[in-house]
Amino acid sequence: MASGSEGQVVTRFAPSPTGFLHIGGARTALFNWLYARHHGGKALLRIEDTDRKRSTQEAIDAILDGLAWLGLDYDEPPVFQSERAARHAAVAEELLASGHAYKCYATPEELEEMRAEQRAKKLPLRYDGRWRDRDPSEAPQGAHYVIRLKTPNEGEMVIDDRVQGRVTVKNAEIDDYVLLRADGTPTYMLAVVVDDHDMGVTHIVRGDDHLNNAFRQLPIYHAMGWPIPVYAHIPLIHGNDGAKLSKRHGAMGVDAYRDELGILPEALFNYLLRLGWGFGDQEEFTREEAIAAFTLEGVGKSPSRFDMKKLLSMNGTYIRKADDGELAGLVAARIGPQADVAVLTTAMPVLKTRARDLHELADGAGFLFSSRPLSMSEKAQELLTPEARVLLGGISERLAAEAHWTTEALEANLKTYAEDLGLGLGKLAQPLRAALTGQTTSPGIFDVLALLGKEESLARIDAQAAETGK
Ligand code: GLU
Repeated sequence: MASGSEGQVVTRFAPSPTGFLHIGGARTALFNWLYARHHGGKALLRIEDTDRKRSTQEAIDAILDGLAWLGLDYDEPPVFQSERAARHAAVAEELLASGHAYKCYATPEELEEMRAEQRAKKLPLRYDGRWRDRDPSEAPQGAHYVIRLKTPNEGEMVIDDRVQGRVTVKNAEIDDYVLLRADGTPTYMLAVVVDDHDMGVTHIVRGDDHLNNAFRQLPIYHAMGWPIPVYAHIPLIHGNDGAKLSKRHGAMGVDAYRDELGILPEALFNYLLRLGWGFGDQEEFTREEAIAAFTLEGVGKSPSRFDMKKLLSMNGTYIRKADDGELAGLVAARIGPQADVAVLTTAMPVLKTRARDLHELADGAGFLFSSRPLSMSEKAQELLTPEARVLLGGISERLAAEAHWTTEALEANLKTYAEDLGLGLGKLAQPLRAALTGQTTSPGIFDVLALLGKEESLARIDAQAAETGK
């Protein structure tokens, strides 16, 4: 198993594969990765799949896939916690042998009784240490036992958390919790500490919902004489109304951001970076800039608010920066087999000026590949009145004579035509857009004409035009 060389920073992302890689997990992964890269250290990944019933291969795949999509790479193959149960058990035995743990023979019924009493007295529900000082020989023959950690009762523990600051907890608040169950399987608390130690993890960056766990985990480090890692517990992400993040706020898997929303990985990377981490006024960071600038001190102490609008607007910014050929490939996959990547690449500078996500981009590009007769949206249909169809006939004649099929020439041509007719340009553009795209919104109408080419444009216009009688 890996361990960091002297002074090397080693971080880990340790998701439980019981669901998708959600937005909070992705941000934790990002911060760990950035911290390791910033310090030239190692970024490691551990899949905490000890809950065999709730862990699924599908979730593991979604996590690996989501991390790779975000461009977070790891320096070693993932560690699967479930494969290390024997090592976890061995540490429990070691703690037992050194007197830092003990066998507890309390039956489930006895423990339930104990909790009932605590509840009745309004005391915190904690194991009362009934086997802490008893001799195992007092146990009934062949009785089942668990191994519990013997945590100190006096004094206190202090963590200088890199985000939360100094946090102190009285030892008396930590009960003698179970390390090894009666069936010999390790508990989560034990597994995390043993794995972090064996992987050489120097910095634990995770959600602040784990801060309490840190105080339960510390006594194991102390008992084993292992070096204590640096802790950084980052605040959770809330919805933009301040409430806990839920599906309604966009608490979806990273795969849904990619597939359903059409978000670019660079945009999500940057959005997550800025969510709860600040660096002056700078909003956009390249990967290299993010690595160079990232520090734990820049992580704020209060919960961040997830803002879908901001994410979409950032996505729009990244769409405009993105390579046209690459975007064309992504959009083609959304449109379907009729899409032509070369055509999309040519059209992309025009198409991408307004889109905020790949959906919009694909919707806006669809007209390029529609076959005649075009299917018309209801609104487009409404625009094609008898008068409008007469206008289209006139436009067709006019454009048939146009020798320079460029955006500029077409614009000049149709503007003059509108003036000749004494009409606003919109009166011409609306039915023209409907005829050319089947929609009432599209990129600029002269761009649409230029992108479709003369032959296709005239064919689409003629299909909707009425005879002008001229
Ligand atoms: N597996 C835990 C989770 O997904 C994280 C444990 C840790 O980071 O220590 O919440």
